[in-house]
Amino acid sequence: MAGIYIHIPFCKQACRYCDFHFSTNTTLLDELIEMIGKEITLRAEYLKGLPIQTLYFGGGTPSLLHPRWIEFLMRKIQETFALDLKEVTLEANPDDLSEEKLIAWKTLGIDRLSLGIQSFDEAVLQFYHRAHSAAESHRAIEKARNAGFSKFSMDLIYGFPSSSHALWEKDLNLALAQNPGHLSCYGLTVEPKTALGNWTEKGKFSPASDEFMAEQFELMQNLTEQAGYEQYEISNFALPGHRSIHNTSYWLGKPYLGLGPGAHSFDGEHRGANPRNNPSYIRSLQKNQIPLEREILTETDRLNDYLLTALRTSWGVDLRWLKNRFGFDLKSERSAVLIQMEKEGWLLWKDNTLSLSRSGKLIADSIAEALFL
Ligand code: SF4
Repeated sequence: MAGIYIHIPFCKQACRYCDFHFSTNTTLLDELIEMIGKEITLRAEYLKGLPIQTLYFGGGTPSLLHPRWIEFLMRKIQETFALDLKEVTLEANPDDLSEEKLIAWKTLGIDRLSLGIQSFDEAVLQFYHRAHSAAESHRAIEKARNAGFSKFSMDLIYGFPSSSHALWEKDLNLALAQNPGHLSCYGLTVEPKTALGNWTEKGKFSPASDEFMAEQFELMQNLTEQAGYEQYEISNFALPGHRSIHNTSYWLGKPYLGLGPGAHSFDGEHRGANPRNNPSYIRSLQKNQIPLEREILTETDRLNDYLLTALRTSWGVDLRWLKNRFGFDLKSERSAVLIQMEKEGWLLWKDNTLSLSRSGKLIADSIAEALFL
C-alpha cells in the first residue's frame, strides 16, 4: 500500500500565518504543472511497483487550478502507476468552489474534499488575510454536498489571541452543525518569515499563551467527543468510517511519493524533499533531473520518528513491534520516566500498546522527547 501527494504551489494571496511553500505569482503555473507531469514519469520506479491506494492534491491551493490540469495529472498517474485507489482528496478553498469545478472534480474521480475554512468569523478571516468570507464558506459546503461530495473535511484554526473561548466554541459549533465526516484543527503558530512572524518580531503581534491554547484544545476535545468524533490523531477528528486514509498511511509509516516543489517522499528506507522553489524545480526537470534531496535515516532517527508519530495517534506505540524492529524495550529502558508520567495521568496502557490520555495529548511532543533514544 502506498500513496501519492501532489503539491500545487500557488495561492491567490498569502495568509498571514502560513509557512507552506506557495507563490502568489502564477506566471509559471502552466510550465510547472507540465513539469510535475514529467516528474511523475521520471519517478515511476520510486514506489517499486506498490499499488497506489490514495492520491492527495495539496498545496498551496489545488482548487485554483483549471480542471484540465487536474485531468492532465490524473491521466499521467494512471498511465504510470498501478492503481488500487481507495481515496482521492483535493484541498479546496471556499472561494474556488464553482459548480463547474465541482462537477469536473467528481467526474475526474476526486471523492473527498478538504476545505480550508479556518474560521467562520469575518474579522478573524480578514486578520488571517484569507481570500474568502464566512458566507462563502457556508455556500461552499452546501455546493459540495449538492455536487455529491459526501466525504469532506474542514480545516479550522484555534488560538486566535485576545479572543474569547466563545469565539472558538462558535466556530466549532458552526462546523459541527454541518456534520462533516472529518475535521482538522490546528493551533495558530507564529512561524518565521510569515507576516505574523514579522509582526511578532516588531512587537506588533503577541501569540496566545500556552494556557489559553491548552484551554481551547480541551474545549475542542469536549465538543468533538460530544458530537461523536474520534480524536484519532492529535489534530484530526473523524466520525466512524471517515478517517483520512491518506494521512493515516503517513502515520503508519507507509511509503509515499511526493511530487511538485516542496513535496516530501518516503520510500520505506529514505526520506527526501523537493526544493521549495518553483523556478529551480522547473529548471531541474527541464534537464530531466529529479530534484529530490535525499535524507538518510539512521536507526535512531527511525525509532524516534516512530515514537513521535505513533504517540500522536489513537492506536499509539506498539511495544512488541518496537522491540522486534529496533530491539528497544521501552518499558524497561524508560521505566522511571514512564512511572512518573503515569502518576501524572498522561498515559494509557492497553495490552502491548502505549497511547496518550486526553491530558497527555496536550504535551505529546514533550512526552515523545522524554522517551527518545
Ligand atoms: S493557508 Fe493555504 S491558502 Fe493560505 S497561503 Fe497557505 S497554502 Fe495558501
